[in-house]
Amino acid sequence: MKLTEYDISHPYHATIVKSERITDESTDEVRHIVLSISDATFHFVEGQSIGVLVPGPHEFGNEYHMRLYSIASSRQGENQNLAEISLCVRRCFYIDDVSGERFPGVASNFLCDCKQGDTVLLTGPYGRQFLPPKDNNSNMLMIGVGTGIAPFRAFMKHIYDERKEWKGKVRLFYGAKTGMDLLYMNDKNSDLSLYYDKETFQAFEVLSSRPHFNEPEQVEQSLKEHSKEVWDLVKDPNTHIYVSGLSRLEARLDKTMEEFAGSEADWLEMKKELIASGRWSTLFYD
Ligand SMILES: Cc1cc2nc3c(=O)[nH]c(=O)nc-3n(C[C@H](O)[C@H](O)[C@H](O)COP(=O)(O)OP(=O)(O)OC[C@H]3O[C@@H](n4cnc5c(N)ncnc54)[C@H](O)[C@@H]3O)c2cc1C
Repeated sequence: MKLTEYDISHPYHATIVKSERITDESTDEVRHIVLSISDATFHFVEGQSIGVLVPGPHEFGNEYHMRLYSIASSRQGENQNLAEISLCVRRCFYIDDVSGERFPGVASNFLCDCKQGDTVLLTGPYGRQFLPPKDNNSNMLMIGVGTGIAPFRAFMKHIYDERKEWKGKVRLFYGAKTGMDLLYMNDKNSDLSLYYDKETFQAFEVLSSRPHFNEPEQVEQSLKEHSKEVWDLVKDPNTHIYVSGLSRLEARLDKTMEEFAGSEADWLEMKKELIASGRWSTLFYD
C-alpha cells in the first residue's frame, strides 16, 4: 500500500515523554522515543505501525510528510502504561547520487530532534499482518536487522510479561554492524537481556566483519551456523516466522533458505505454504 493511501483523517496528538539515544557516538544515531497519547480510543497490538505526520511546508505543497514507524511497546503500553507507546527511530540521511550532497530525512530527523514535552501528530495504528501467535505453545523464529528489532521488542514484552505462560521456543537472529548497533542489547539500553534467562528464549546476535563498509548485516551467517535448529523450526507447523528490517535482507534470506531447502524451487514451494498458512510474516522497508 502506498503512503498516500493511508487514512490520516483522524490524527492523535501525542506528547514526547522521553527520548534517549540507544547507540553511542561511534555509530548511527538511534533513539528510543516514548510518547503519551491521552486519547483513550487509541488501541494497538504488537507488530502494528503508527504514522508520524510532520507539518509542512513541504515539497509539492503537501500539508504533511508522513512516515511509518513500528510500535516497540506491547499492547498494555510502554511499561504497562496504556497511554504510552515507544518507537525506535534511526536518524536517516541520504546522499544525492548526482550532487553528492547529504540531506536529512524529514520524519526521522523531526522525531530525533523532538524534546520532552513537544507535541507530535500520529495516525493509525496500521497493519495487522505481523501479529504474535495466539497459542502460547507456538514457536517463534524472529529474524531481523536494525530498527527491525522494534516489533520484536513488543513481541517479547507481550509474550513474557503479559501472557506469562509462554511454552513455545522463541529464537531471535539479529544482525548489526557493531556491538553498539545491537539495539536494546547494548550498554546504553539492554531491555531485551531481561529475557535471556527465560528457558524458552535464545538470542543469536551477529556483528559485521567489516563494520565500516555499507554492506548488509550478516544475519544469514548465524542462521547457517544453526541450520539444523532453524530448518527444524521452519518445517514445524507449530512455528511462526517473522522477518523485519531493511528490505535488502529479503533476497539474502531467500538464498539462505534455498540452501536449507535444497533448491530454489523447493524453497519457493515451502514459502508459498508458509504464507498460505499464516506462518511467514514480513515487515520490510528501505
Ligand atoms: C511499516 C514500516 C515500519 C517502519 N518502522 C521503522 C522503525 O521502527 N524505525 C525506523 O527508524 N524506521 C522505520 N521505517 C522507515 C521510516 O518509515 C522512514 O522511511 C525513515 O525514517 C526515513 O524517513 P524520513 O522522512 O526521515 O526520510 P525522507 O525525508 O523520506 O527521505 C527519504 C528521501 O530520500 C530519498 N532517498 C531515499 N533513499 C535514498 C537513498 N538510498 N539514497 C538517496 N536518496 C534516498 C528519497 O527521495 C526519499 O524521498 C518503517 C517503514 C515502514 C514502511
